[in-house]
Amino acid sequence: MPAQKFFVGMKEVEGYTIDYRNLSDGMHQFDFSLGDDFFSSIESSLITSGQVEVQLNLSKHERMGSIQIEHHGKVLSVCDRCMEPLDLPLEGQTSLLVQGSEAIDDEDEEVLVSDVDGKLHLAKVIYDYVSLSIPITKYCDTNPPCHTKLMEKLVESTEESGHPVWNELKKLKLKD
Ligand SMILES: [Zn+2]
Repeated sequence: MPAQKFFVGMKEVEGYTIDYRNLSDGMHQFDFSLGDDFFSSIESSLITSGQVEVQLNLSKHERMGSIQIEHHGKVLSVCDRCMEPLDLPLEGQTSLLVQGSEAIDDEDEEVLVSDVDGKLHLAKVIYDYVSLSIPITKYCDTNPPCHTKLMEKLVESTEESGHPVWNELKKLKLKD
């Protein structure tokens, strides 16, 4: 069985539904602008804030369609190193198939299936691809690197607390 997306019982976000059945055959382009409202309307969204532009190119044919999704923008994240808020640039592109009059049995491609009314619900699909493009490690892009500041903070708190472990760390740091 190919990996299929089912939408039964899923809360749908308005404005991200395409009436696939009533589209003419051929190419169609849809542009979406995702902001805070979009991300907050996605259940258990990992993204709370951001601005991401999405261009969706849909090619419809009787037996099978395809969708190309491209996105670029920024989302609010947190640096893994210093825990400061971070405007994280994102971009990505992907493609998937849309089931038409024939069932698609392709193990390698993700297949979208329209609902009983012939509509494609894309909010969660778009969200998934945007959130998948978040890198596993996210760091501030600053010079000097933000961990230097973190080290300074540690050294400062050492001076305040006078804990022997921190004093040892301070000596190590001073040796470099
Ligand atoms: Zn940082």
